[in-house]
Amino acid sequence: MVEDTRSISGFLCRQIEETLEFNPVPAYSLAEAASILAEDEEFFVAVLDLNLPDAPDGEVVDLVLEKRIPAIILTGSFDEAMREKILDKHVVDYILKDSPRSLDHVKYLIQRIYRNQGVGILLVDDSRFFRSFCRGLLEAQKFRVLEAGNGEEGLDVLSRNPDVRLIITDYNMPVMDGFEFVSRVRELYGRNEIGIIGLSTQGAGAVSARFLKTGANDFLPKPFASEEFYARVTQNIELIEFIARLREIAVRDPLTRLHNRRHYFEAGKKLLKEAEENRIPVTVAMLDIDRFKGVNDQYGHEAGDAVLVRLAESLRRTFGRSHIISRFGGEEFSVLAYGIHGERAVRLFDDFRGLVENTEVSYGNERIRFTVSIGLHSALGRPLSHMIREADRGLYRAKREGRNRVVMQS
Ligand code: GH3
Ligand code: MG
Ligand code: MG
Repeated sequence: MVEDTRSISGFLCRQIEETLEFNPVPAYSLAEAASILAEDEEFFVAVLDLNLPDAPDGEVVDLVLEKRIPAIILTGSFDEAMREKILDKHVVDYILKDSPRSLDHVKYLIQRIYRNQGVGILLVDDSRFFRSFCRGLLEAQKFRVLEAGNGEEGLDVLSRNPDVRLIITDYNMPVMDGFEFVSRVRELYGRNEIGIIGLSTQGAGAVSARFLKTGANDFLPKPFASEEFYARVTQNIELIEFIARLREIAVRDPLTRLHNRRHYFEAGKKLLKEAEENRIPVTVAMLDIDRFKGVNDQYGHEAGDAVLVRLAESLRRTFGRSHIISRFGGEEFSVLAYGIHGERAVRLFDDFRGLVENTEVSYGNERIRFTVSIGLHSALGRPLSHMIREADRGLYRAKREGRNRVVMQS
């Protein structure tokens, strides 16, 4: 944090430390910044004031960029010539420090840069020169950059890099052009999974329309200003991230992080269809914690939550690989076990029941023990709703027969 106005520096350092859990190091002049950088410490990002007592013209920017540290620029006044000069250097962004709100934006940018490290961007263009230009821009923001010289190479790189969230592709390329590439990508990934920005130098109108109609999310004519490039890249990435987050919220139970009932039915129906086609039997298990109301009454609701979280962990550890697990609601869970049936299913779930019986959950000074009852139903080619009903009957019998047991409903 190279900023000579102490109030601003102090405010930003405190904000960053408290809300982002980064460790800011303040410097108040170019000389101080240079001596800090000369030490071995690693810096993830720099926030730089353009106007310092011993460096009135943004000299600190070059010093930091030389070390390949992404730089966020603070400036007291807006001047077009300076703006151009600074943006040419591939800084993250520049911020006019005129209000607390603009200082909030510094925080947002730091977080953005941090997240960018996990985001892959694929550049598809036959011009090596243009690719390396874009790579420079994107790496300045810490994105992971992948390159391909045409659509066919692009598909290949994509198949090997699951972290790609955005593709930036040219139209005119040998072997496979941009339109064909986009439509091939769209056969594999939806608009909400991987964003695509189309590029072209040619008659922008027609090319951009066709890019969008073939499945691109956005379009940029060449040449472009780096600021617009950054804005579009960020906007597209954030939309994809936002949708991914919504999707997660829609399919997961927030307490246990297990899938919810909705996801269970969606994924379960697919799995049953696959099982039927391959003649592989499946088992539905319904699990319910025994006398869970008593746990809440005795230890409190939060302790009850801790028990649910612990049971979810055990389920994940035991069945997480190839089976579908869900919190159905309350203290009721279901497992759809693929390729396991009959006696083997009974043994597997009885082992799990035994594991739960021997698990101790620590909550404060309390050591909480609990048990589960489990109903099972194995079948091949029956609908999911039927299997759940039968497994539920098994569960009901397990409760009636004394709890802490497994009953296979045939
Ligand atoms: P049984 O052995 O017959 O299943 O008895 P039980 O007490 O487990 O069953 P009952 O259905 O009577 O009570 C379930 C309890 O689970 C009541 C409810 O307060 C509690 N519960 C449901 N969801 C949650 C939750 O998210 N957290 C906590 N702590 N308790 C929950
Ligand atoms: Mg219960
Ligand atoms: Mg219950």
